[in-house]
Amino acid sequence: MALYARIILGMSNSQIDRMFDYEIPFEMLDKIETGMRVKVPFGGGNSLAEGYVVDICDETDVPEEKIKFIHSIVDKFSLLDKDMTDMAWWMKKRYLATFSSCLRTLLPAGADLKNTVKSVFIADKLKAEEFIAKNSGKPKYEAQVKVLQYLMEKESEEEPALRQILGVNVSPVNTLEKNGLVYFGKTRRRRKDSVVFAEYKKHILNDKQQYAFNRILSSDNSKPFLLFGVTGSGKTEIYLQFIEKIIEEGKQAIVLVPEISLTPLMVERFKGRFGNRAAVTHSRMSAGERLDVFMKAKYGEVDVVIGARSAVFMPFENLGAIIIDEEHDDSYKSEVTPKYDAIETAIFRCQQMGAKLILGSATPSVKSYHKALTGEYVLLTLEKRAGGGKLPECEIVDMRSELEEGNRSVISRALYGEIKEKLAYKKQIMLFINRRGASTFVSCRKCGHVMMCLSCNVSYKYHSDGNFLMCHYCGKKEPVPKVCPECGSKYIKYFGAGTQKIEDEIKHLFPSARVLRMDFDTTTGKDGHLKILEKFKNHEADILIGTQMIAKGHDFENVDLVGLVAADLSLNTADYMGTEKTFQLITQSAGRAGRQNGEGKVVIQTYQPENFAVETASKHDYVTFFEQEIQLRNMMSYPPFGYVYTLLATGKDENRVAEAIAVLGDIFKRENEDGFVILGPSEALISKIKDEYRFRLMIKGNDDEKMREYTEKCLELFGGRNGYRDVYINLFMNGGSIL
Ligand code: ADP
Ligand code: ZN
Ligand code: ZN
Repeated sequence: MALYARIILGMSNSQIDRMFDYEIPFEMLDKIETGMRVKVPFGGGNSLAEGYVVDICDETDVPEEKIKFIHSIVDKFSLLDKDMTDMAWWMKKRYLATFSSCLRTLLPAGADLKNTVKSVFIADKLKAEEFIAKNSGKPKYEAQVKVLQYLMEKESEEEPALRQILGVNVSPVNTLEKNGLVYFGKTRRRRKDSVVFAEYKKHILNDKQQYAFNRILSSDNSKPFLLFGVTGSGKTEIYLQFIEKIIEEGKQAIVLVPEISLTPLMVERFKGRFGNRAAVTHSRMSAGERLDVFMKAKYGEVDVVIGARSAVFMPFENLGAIIIDEEHDDSYKSEVTPKYDAIETAIFRCQQMGAKLILGSATPSVKSYHKALTGEYVLLTLEKRAGGGKLPECEIVDMRSELEEGNRSVISRALYGEIKEKLAYKKQIMLFINRRGASTFVSCRKCGHVMMCLSCNVSYKYHSDGNFLMCHYCGKKEPVPKVCPECGSKYIKYFGAGTQKIEDEIKHLFPSARVLRMDFDTTTGKDGHLKILEKFKNHEADILIGTQMIAKGHDFENVDLVGLVAADLSLNTADYMGTEKTFQLITQSAGRAGRQNGEGKVVIQTYQPENFAVETASKHDYVTFFEQEIQLRNMMSYPPFGYVYTLLATGKDENRVAEAIAVLGDIFKRENEDGFVILGPSEALISKIKDEYRFRLMIKGNDDEKMREYTEKCLELFGGRNGYRDVYINLFMNGGSIL
């Protein structure tokens, strides 16, 4: 009986993104697996194209006289099993991306198997010894035993050399690989852990923790849990003990944290509890190192992987749980195609594998909390800090009256007084600003002209360390002009309060204080931010100034004061998530103060003290915040009540881009059967970036599923026209992006 492989083409050419059946030639029958790349004849001329095997089956709709044979196999082995290719297929549907881009996303970045498969490594020495003991002397296993004995000595050998030295063909090596005794790789997988981690001792769970823990353990796995617990309430301890249970059952777990909170503290806890059965993966590791962790997960050499967003794809074969800490964090949504959401992906993955999902946060996203209240998630609440400490006291300072009363500094008198006092007691201080160089644009005081990057149509940002202007979209730099290019006046003004401006101000106000600044500009390079944090932790500085990146996941014992210099800047973005982000930022930042002794103080400087996000955050009152925010969302038809999709067309030729978006707009209007609101087409808010023109089309509605189907259909119709290859169409479904 013939077997057929269902193959998806178009690894290099995204125009063809559908499946074709090919017959598997006899000699490939025992080699081919789901997830492998193969070459197949394609089209009238039968030129060779590369594709992925998505499924293997014993029937096909293609008539016998038309079916073609697979030409050859590209990969020696498959990194993706059926569950993984199914997930890629789900992603394609969900995020309206090509299947091939979804498959690529599942694999560790830079893992080009064609180039990395070079050597054969021994996978498990114990298993290998057993195998040799059991099978040596049996003619059937002679070649396999020979390969294993050789590799026990040398650990690894380049694949062609191995065969030459031992005089065996590929099949025993492949069989060993299939049985998990050896693996192919480029680099040695058995890297020694260079750091030995001290044991992280178990806490006895308090009543609240125990209750949550029991609920999670005893559930059928049908609904995700939302573990809503204030900072320091002991969520991490629950994760750790829960994972221990999962491991006892012979299953594995994935823990997602925001990239920036992959701090030594987090790693120490997991390594300190699980030792080498836990692995960490993050973007500062090389492609080889990340492939390493991926392989360890695939072969069950570790039980837990802790990583940022993409760790959701760790190919554990017996996955028991996924934990997503700080579930509200933006970094769980990918910004590159396919624009997947790690939470949605985790929900799919857990359903697929029968695993449990825990979403944890001190400030859940409005979307998640809403789901918990409507019964889609199970809500578990921890209201108090586990160590018994209290939450810090917050003081709101109205910056408008500061100015009225003659204080022109970015530091209010109240904050000044607090800093002075804490410095005297040798306590440490953290100062936050909402966003890097938030509004440090440069303009002319006389005519109001704003210095702009002409390629991007956005204002330049001022950098005082080199006294230059920089475009944060394309990176172009220019010296600060001496006179206004518009009117020739000499009065050039610098606006706003970036981290740098605050640093200058603090140094001026407190000349003897030792100050560290941490933002995007000072933390480039490997582990740049970790070095700064380490210094601060060792009390080599008194004051740490930074953007929100320092707000997450750190435990500094000696910090007694947190100042939010401009707490409300994200209220002013044209984004419906602005209020939610402000609440989260204030709460997370405040959580840094007084972690140990409960004597923490937080000063919140704002121009909008009456805003409910500022007010509720200062009282640590999430529930009241949520109740007001959800009403607002409902009234304004924002998610979870209404959705906005934006289609962005970009390209070098303005006329072509405008034409493409007009054609697309016509298709959307013609196909609009469910009464969605269509806005545009029009120029995007930023009409040009890096010399590419940008036009947009917006669709509004309140049924996410229907909008997806409709959009998919319209994009397919547009793609079928094939006339606009020089125009790139990008789809944003989050509704929050400013385009
Ligand atoms: P979260 O993850 O909610 O911010 P953590 O798990 O980091 O909270 O716990 C905060 C602090 O409380 C940590 O120092 C932790 O060691 C401690 N802790 C956690 N659980 C307990 C417990 N049951 N009893 C005493 N201390 C605990
Ligand atoms: Zn001017
Ligand atoms: Zn630019």
